[in-house]
Amino acid sequence: MPSGRRIVGDMTNIGEQAKPPFAVLPDPSSLFLARAERLSALAPDHELGPYLSFLAKLATAQHEVASDLPPALLPPDDRMARSLAHGVPPLSRATIEPDDIMLAAVERLVARFGAVTLPSETATAIAALRTGLRSDGHRIVGAALKEASPAQDLAQRVLILAGLQVHFSRLAAMLDANALKPVANAACPTCGSPPMASTVVGWPRAYNTRYCTCGLCGTMWNVIRVTCVLCGATDGVSFRGFEGQPDTVKAETCDTCRGYVKIVYQVSNTALEPLCDDVASLGLDMMLAEEGWKRGGENPFLLGY
Ligand SMILES: [Zn+2]
Ligand SMILES: [Zn+2]
Repeated sequence: MPSGRRIVGDMTNIGEQAKPPFAVLPDPSSLFLARAERLSALAPDHELGPYLSFLAKLATAQHEVASDLPPALLPPDDRMARSLAHGVPPLSRATIEPDDIMLAAVERLVARFGAVTLPSETATAIAALRTGLRSDGHRIVGAALKEASPAQDLAQRVLILAGLQVHFSRLAAMLDANALKPVANAACPTCGSPPMASTVVGWPRAYNTRYCTCGLCGTMWNVIRVTCVLCGATDGVSFRGFEGQPDTVKAETCDTCRGYVKIVYQVSNTALEPLCDDVASLGLDMMLAEEGWKRGGENPFLLGY
């Protein structure tokens, strides 16, 4: 059973040739809790332990905030239908306008997280961000969502994106998964974000198939294996592991675009979670960066690397 996802079934139909669903929507009531638990499990004895523990607290705050917000508002049905008809993601982050509930998700996340004991550097960033959100919230949130490199302090941007993860996962959860369609290479069918990582899953109806995960809204979408999820090339795709690490997290490199996205073998270890295990395998990114490979996965919690 995938944690944090809205898919149900038992294990009796493994091996049947059922078609895997194209899109699997997030379940905000369990998505962030599952991440908090995975981050807490990864942190002890890990060289990134303090950062993983920090993110576990952040994911816990996301979980608490997700269940305590007014209902999120989808764009009008006719507008989403037009988007889908034109191959545009219905919640495109490039065009969606921040509303008061989106802003409330960010503000509450920042407030809740600020109540946890934190290093003074982060406490300063949080205090400044809360002041900024009160006076200029829609613009600040819109910039984090739409601009590739907004003029924002990195720690603040991470917190804004954490709040936006809460909001977008709540919006995505209200969509009809069956209505979603592939939009383009390297784009989430719900919000248009690049993939964060891909996962080989062990789900019923989709055993041993691969899904990309969106780092913003948490939607997962089916992609063919041994194909670059960035440019679609099928030649020159290779897999790289990191010596001394379990081979359940690898990088899928592409000779065509010289990019890579991590691939997480949840089918071999059900404890793996794409966002958390992407962060925890930062050593692999560092090795590949030295060799000139470009990271293609977009993970809000690896922004500074
Ligand atoms: Zn998305
Ligand atoms: Zn490629």
